Amino acid sequence: MHTDLYINGTWRAASDGARFDVLNPADETALASVASATVQDAMDALDAAEGAFAKWRATTPRARSEILRRAFELFHERIEEIARLITLENGKARADAMGEAGYAAEFFRWYAEEAVRAEGHLGPAPASGARMLVHQKPAGIAVLVTPWNYPAAMGTRKIAPALAAGCPVVIKPASETPLTMLALMPILEEAGVPPGLVNVLPSRASGAVVGAMLADPRVRVVSFTGSTEVGRKLLHAAADGVVKPAMELGGNAPFIVCRDADIDAAADGLMIAKMRNLGEACTAANRIYVHEEIAEPFTLRFTEKMAALKLGNGLEAGVDVGPLVNAETRDKVDYFVRDALAKGADLRLGGDRPEGPGFFYPPTVLAAVPDDADCLADEIFGPVAAIQTFSDEDEVIDRANQTEYGLVAYLYTEDLRRGLALSERLEFGMIGLNRGLVSDPAAPFGGVKQSGLGREGGKEGMLEFQETQYIATEW
Ligand code: NAD
Repeated sequence: MHTDLYINGTWRAASDGARFDVLNPADETALASVASATVQDAMDALDAAEGAFAKWRATTPRARSEILRRAFELFHERIEEIARLITLENGKARADAMGEAGYAAEFFRWYAEEAVRAEGHLGPAPASGARMLVHQKPAGIAVLVTPWNYPAAMGTRKIAPALAAGCPVVIKPASETPLTMLALMPILEEAGVPPGLVNVLPSRASGAVVGAMLADPRVRVVSFTGSTEVGRKLLHAAADGVVKPAMELGGNAPFIVCRDADIDAAADGLMIAKMRNLGEACTAANRIYVHEEIAEPFTLRFTEKMAALKLGNGLEAGVDVGPLVNAETRDKVDYFVRDALAKGADLRLGGDRPEGPGFFYPPTVLAAVPDDADCLADEIFGPVAAIQTFSDEDEVIDRANQTEYGLVAYLYTEDLRRGLALSERLEFGMIGLNRGLVSDPAAPFGGVKQSGLGREGGKEGMLEFQETQYIATEW
């Protein structure tokens, strides 16, 4: 297990020797003691990135593509080992961890293919007689800051397009889950990623380390995934250096089940939208609106499926729901349930926080959740489904839009034409129309309003790491 900083292709301790413990959320024991980067280490990583940039930007797209493709293949050779590490440090059950690992690897394949699809354009200026040549250049050194809920995928979703575009990166993984990102470095090395191109700095001093890097004029991109609160701070820091920001922030996804929806399909879709990653996802269905005429059969069907899930240590066979990542997350989920019940919600399943070590919380279903319940205003980030009813589609679209977030919305109806019309009225960056899963490496993932700026994945994901250059000439 790698537990040191990864700078310029070498493993080393922090400049001041500081370390911090990473816990196993299933039993609260220490898994590893990890080096905690300092500002000095961050400056060393930028020096390494600067050195690597000079060579990497001059490589051909085909050469970059082949390294990324090799990384995809090596990732798959070690996928079991990586998934196990994800479960150990994050808690998620094996199926979720394998799902994440496969998704994470896919970014290397997708961007191996995108790297060679570079496009530009040439055309005459309308009146001056000049020719206008427009092309994309690598933006420069990118600082990547990632959350704990997808320790591998939130990193590869940034690393792969950055490398494809020609940029070096310095990654600050979440302090709860730095081990997976460190474990990916031997894969990148073996794939042919040169020293200094990818650097990893776990750190307890995130604010100081990331702040110092954003204040350095060599850094041209900051790509962050995490809470809106921290994203806002990084936007302020990026403003000083006019650093290009890409922000994937919080969500508060509505999940709307229309009167004509296929109840079984919608319940299956909600199982994915709510329970993938045990609810610890920015895309998790947070406010569930079901038409009043089908609310009861839908709730019964969904509750049956939730009741069939097995809670336990994510490494054990047959376990569907592992522990939440830490005590704070578990306590917040528990608070949301207590608050909703105190305000009159109807408890259909779960709601009892287990005793003993480990940050466990059982699959929970709340029906008739009152409008003033705090779980409707904030991300639950746990295995708790909060169901409300509606009678009028216009009204439910307005309710769905009444949030400062705008990441993803889900809508179930058998009438596709109406579904598309309603989708256009939803103020969200992504819509799951009769689908509980929107994430795909080939699609532009991202939100509007306070859910963020920019897109990750797809063609759009590479633009975050590129700058457009225009050359005026004539002949
Ligand atoms: P967080 O914002 O607390 O932390 C994210 C990262 O920022 C971590 O690496 C953390 O160490 C670092 N960080 C914290 N304070 C910092 C500071 N002052 N300066 C620089 N870095 C700092 O988020 P989290 O708790 O790790 O993750 C959960 C949040 O992430 C949720 O709000 C969730 O919705 C969001 N999320 C969004 C997406 C998306 O794509 N939109 C995906 C996954 C998670």
